Amino acid sequence: MDNRYKAARLISTLSLFYAGVILLGLLTGLLIELLLVASIALLVWHYLNLNRLRHYLWQSRRFAPPEGSGSWRPVFDGIYKLQMRNQQRRSQLGELVRRFREGAEALPDAVMLIGQHHVILWSNTQAHELLGLRWPEDRGQRIDNLVRSPEFGHFIRARNDKEPLILTSPIDTQRQLEMRLMPYGDHQRLLVIRDITLLVRLENMRRDFVANVSHELRTPLTVVKGYLEMLSDPSQMDPAMWQQVHRMLVSQTDRMDSLVSQLTELSSLESARQSKGSQRIDVSQLLAIVEQEVDAVYRDKQLQVTFDVTPGIDMFGEPRQMRSAFSNLIFNAVKYTPAGRHIEVVWKKVAAGALFSVKDDGDGIEPEHLLRLTERFYRVDKARSRDTGGSGLGLSIVKHALGNHQSELKIRSTVGKGSCFSFEIPSHLLDSRRISEQANES
Ligand code: ADP
Repeated sequence: MDNRYKAARLISTLSLFYAGVILLGLLTGLLIELLLVASIALLVWHYLNLNRLRHYLWQSRRFAPPEGSGSWRPVFDGIYKLQMRNQQRRSQLGELVRRFREGAEALPDAVMLIGQHHVILWSNTQAHELLGLRWPEDRGQRIDNLVRSPEFGHFIRARNDKEPLILTSPIDTQRQLEMRLMPYGDHQRLLVIRDITLLVRLENMRRDFVANVSHELRTPLTVVKGYLEMLSDPSQMDPAMWQQVHRMLVSQTDRMDSLVSQLTELSSLESARQSKGSQRIDVSQLLAIVEQEVDAVYRDKQLQVTFDVTPGIDMFGEPRQMRSAFSNLIFNAVKYTPAGRHIEVVWKKVAAGALFSVKDDGDGIEPEHLLRLTERFYRVDKARSRDTGGSGLGLSIVKHALGNHQSELKIRSTVGKGSCFSFEIPSHLLDSRRISEQANES
């Protein structure tokens, strides 16, 4: 310790002061009077310093205390040192809190610090968004007053912190939240909230998918099984009957085969990455092949199908996927448009790229189905779709194939007037050289 701040120094200064006064008193013969005056002066000086200290502690806004002199110097210096130490601790603590908050803000999950009586002490931005908190107004509020649900109330009061709670978001009924509580510090708990909407949706989709596939396979399997049982004694069956059974067996196995191929195609599309535009596709040639196929399969159906295809608009992409997209849309129109009506297939250049559309004047689709048409296994009229050999996977395949080519399926339909299925291929996936050559030629 600095010599200036030792107690001995204080005593020796005081002794020296009084020794000087006594010596002066003895020399002048006014010892008592001088001692009295000196003591009063000392008292006044101490009082003045005491007043400076009081003023500094209660009124002054200054960080540093006033300069001290004599025996008051160690006091003011001591206060200054204490202030410095506190400031350092405060900034260390501030840094620690700042780091904790930054860490919590960087988390993908919502985090909330809950104190006694379930009061919110702090929460990150994700928590404000997920629970619709107003910040900082809601700081200090009870969390169970803001999230008003009996399950949540029970959860926050429960002592068992292990089990998470799955709750519908209090501000958006479409969102599912998973909440976990864990002990944190003294009488505090950390509430961690995760948005699991996507997970729940995926789980539901997986369950529906398994149920749908089983159902779709079970129907033809039941038919095949029934006929096979009938065939246990072929001698009992006349040739005409056998012809009918054979036709049915072939059609049902075809149906299962087509379902399995469509499922395989869908799964490979889903796992395929975005098309890098590796191969050039001659769209007009591809559409000419589909036109021939339509003609071959639906020759007997009285439909007027026109192909208005601009030649030379080639694109880059995955030929198999694009063929699937074009042919599914065209075949759907042909399948679902009643005889005697019209279908128009167009492929042409537009400002943002190239447009493909299939327009029919069929019965149209009711609005409530439109958003769900691209879901796997979704069919407007199950019986009718099955009659036409549909499994409800076609538009789902189109959606994924287009997604891999930075494009999107647009469906417009009016009941009684017809439907239009279209998509645009962006210009950067088109073969611009071929397009300009074509423009020069014409
Ligand atoms: P599917 O294999 O049953 O044809 P899709 O996914 O291709 O399955 O089509 C889903 C449903 O959309 C069909 O079952 C049908 O009800 C409806 N749909 C598709 N295209 C048309 C169209 N051009 N006109 C009317 N309905 C259509």
